[in-house]
Amino acid sequence: MAQAKTFASQADMEVKQVTFTKLSDHAYAYTAEGDPNTGIIVGDDAVLVADTQATPAMAEDVIRRIREVTDKPIKYVVLTHYHAVRVLGASAYRPQQIIASQDTYDLIVERGEADKASEIGRFPRLFQNVETVPPGMTWPTITFNRKMTLWLGSLEVQLLQLGRGHTKGDTVVWLPKDRVLLSGDLVEFDATPYAGDAYFKDWPTTLENVASLKPVALVPGRGPALLGEERVAAGLKSTGDFIADVRKSVEQGVKAGKDLNAVYKETYATLKPKYGHWVIFDHCMPFDVTRCFDEMTQYPDPRIWTAERDRQMWETLEG
Ligand SMILES: [Zn+2]
Repeated sequence: MAQAKTFASQADMEVKQVTFTKLSDHAYAYTAEGDPNTGIIVGDDAVLVADTQATPAMAEDVIRRIREVTDKPIKYVVLTHYHAVRVLGASAYRPQQIIASQDTYDLIVERGEADKASEIGRFPRLFQNVETVPPGMTWPTITFNRKMTLWLGSLEVQLLQLGRGHTKGDTVVWLPKDRVLLSGDLVEFDATPYAGDAYFKDWPTTLENVASLKPVALVPGRGPALLGEERVAAGLKSTGDFIADVRKSVEQGVKAGKDLNAVYKETYATLKPKYGHWVIFDHCMPFDVTRCFDEMTQYPDPRIWTAERDRQMWETLEG
């Protein structure tokens, strides 16, 4: 039974079409029309999976696709950041190691439980068979600061922190030889960037750092794989434009002394014509504007979203 007033995303039950795209001799993208993506790297002796899907049941479909192209063992799971929708499927891969930045590890310690409850409540469709998620948190077994290099046989895989953006712990996976990049939610395409835990001030510089690697293929956090330098540039630009446009609108409101509610309504109206067709636009905007308003007023670091705070925010802005 549908509730009368609920999150935009709770009503979103459309089934998405999965696409499994080969990007280079070693890289594949598992994408699903704007739902969270998974990147796959196949080396000489092992497979690396970046971002796991939301539940082990959903991860099984990724594994099925991987097994169509290789029978090498899945040794590594990389978490590009801490969000539950990307992390909670990890156990299905039975990896030898789960790797994340130390900043991501710290965020799991600080807010992993709250985030898990909040994300499952926000977006039930993205957590199919949520009962298959093991109890507790998904803990990284290896952490790193700034840069880590893995060798899958002769294949070099770099895990890089290029700056804060979508979260404090953002990590990209980079294949220097193939020039393929898995960006996590730092870059989206035809999908609205979620910025509820973001650093608006840092995000543009981090995107410049991504661009300076000159990828020829990029798997965004959501949306289709971007093949060719032009498509990669388009993804970086549209993500950067969205972040800049939210920031500009919120800044004008804050400078004029307006409250969050007024700033939200103005920002929503300003951005809707340009970005309203992107998936999860209505879902993201309240979180994005709230976080941007926070950052510009009194909270340099993102406050923890709990299921309760989600509800309160939604009632204030959309009720
Ligand atoms: Zn995320």
